[in-house]
Amino acid sequence: MASDDLQNMSSSEILELQKKNCIFCKIISKEIPSNEIYSDDRVMVILDINPAAEGHCIILPKQHYQILPQIPDELVGYLFKTAKKISKSLLKSLAVQGTTIFVANGGLAGQKAPHFMLHVIPRKPGDLLFRLPKNNMDEKELDAVQGLLSLMKKPEKKQQAKEQKEKAEEKPKKKPVKKEREAKPKPDKSAKVNIDDIAGLFLGGKNG
Ligand SMILES: [Zn+2]
Repeated sequence: MASDDLQNMSSSEILELQKKNCIFCKIISKEIPSNEIYSDDRVMVILDINPAAEGHCIILPKQHYQILPQIPDELVGYLFKTAKKISKSLLKSLAVQGTTIFVANGGLAGQKAPHFMLHVIPRKPGDLLFRLPKNNMDEKELDAVQGLLSLMKKPEKKQQAKEQKEKAEEKPKKKPVKKEREAKPKPDKSAKVNIDDIAGLFLGGKNG
């Protein structure tokens, strides 16, 4: 298709065209096979075909969205809730010591397919993944960034006030004393992991 045609299309028409040609939509509709780990009415979790590490999972919204801003807040929440579950399963079953939860949001960020996805990548010591360079910012640059961020906050004030009011109303439930105890690091339990759990979790997907 010529780029002129694309320019004359509305954003919803472009989305429809993307959807038709989307590999991940075809995976979701089972036209293309995948190593499925989990599926419900809103999301599907599969093993990445080019994993950064063993157990690298991709969480896909079943509906086609290209980038994060298009996704309804409620679904964003559900995607992260799923990431939390998958991360917990990976920590238990693969005896890894952490997970990186990662979104490439837009082409410049390394997004390769036009279907939004959340990566959950198991981490092990010395795996050399995600070694981000550290860039020093001078004060002028920091001020500029801070200025932009403060602009973002303004429209939310009403919402914040509402949330604070709601919080105040449910206060009696909370016990802030417990937090300090939870913050202490827990002993490493990786030695106790049952390898059979992995098979159960991945439904034999590793062989495919
Ligand atoms: Zn898609």
